[in-house]
Amino acid sequence: MDRVSLGESGVSLPRMGVGSYQATSTWGAKDEDVATAIRRSCELGVNFVDTAEEYGHGHSEEVVGKAVREVGRDNVVIATKVNGAHLRYEELQKACAASLRRLGVSEIDLYQVHWPDPWEQIPLKQTMKALEKLQGEGKIRAIGVSNFAVRDLEEARAILPRSEIVSNQVRYNLVQRDIEDEVVPYCNKSGIEILAWGPLGQGALTGRYAPGHLPGNDARRSNPLFGARNIAQVGGVVSVLQEIGRRKGKTAAQVALNWVVGRGAVPIAGASTPQQAEENAGALGWELDGEDLGAITKAMAGVKLDYFDV
Ligand code: NAD
Repeated sequence: MDRVSLGESGVSLPRMGVGSYQATSTWGAKDEDVATAIRRSCELGVNFVDTAEEYGHGHSEEVVGKAVREVGRDNVVIATKVNGAHLRYEELQKACAASLRRLGVSEIDLYQVHWPDPWEQIPLKQTMKALEKLQGEGKIRAIGVSNFAVRDLEEARAILPRSEIVSNQVRYNLVQRDIEDEVVPYCNKSGIEILAWGPLGQGALTGRYAPGHLPGNDARRSNPLFGARNIAQVGGVVSVLQEIGRRKGKTAAQVALNWVVGRGAVPIAGASTPQQAEENAGALGWELDGEDLGAITKAMAGVKLDYFDV
């Protein structure tokens, strides 16, 4: 399978990953289902898993660790993230040690800063220097960031002239494309891979939801995408995805993920069940044609999300 190299780190990824945020009480997926989804993804070539110490205060990392033991360490690329509360020099070393322990590995392939600290105003220099040390010690293979704007990327790169920042994990999907203005051009120019979280709009783009038929009491209750006016607009896009899917023998979710791949980003699709992981793996290995892309662009043009619609 075609792979994406993360700078000079030696780490390479398939064109899609599987997310494990779902292995937390805020999402409520069963641990065994998430672990099986990861194993199934790996069997189907999607052998890149994303987690974070944030997810269930380490619980998701433990679930990933269990799946990794079953799949075999060498058969999977592991990405995790340091929480925004652990960005001071010493705290970050401890956070990494704890993630390594929970994952049950001696080295993390991609270690990401989950978000730039907005509260304590921790100097970014402490964070980046701590990451450089961990890389030098062989505890992490590649340094990544998440939710970084161009100004954050510029500052981080200036601090680490000898080390590379290989990826920026940001929200990106058919109806939430704000990163295309500045972040994508900057990352493309700088050799930073875009990893897309929420590529299915947390399920909104799969066709499972509509006004009056919304997700239960999980992490999505605070996601404006599921607000009444927004989900109604998203429904128009989903109809187009379903129509394209009918012509191509694909599902709306597969079309939505394939669109992200076609934009040059690596979608990380969160899977609650092995069946979802299998379906999502079917988003790779084919392309949308000009007619499909035209229909999608037309449908997207009418979407104006209201981020107060919660
Ligand atoms: P997502 O767009 O991947 O959607 C996940 C939701 O869609 C889940 O409810 C899942 O059960 C459902 N789903 C998945 N495949 C489906 C299918 N084929 N049919 C129907 N429903 C399906 O959103 P996400 O989980 O928020 O993002 C993906 C991953 O990105 C996470 O698991 C996590 O690893 C990562 N993430 C990172 C950040 C960050 O700040 N860096 C934030 C959120 C998530």
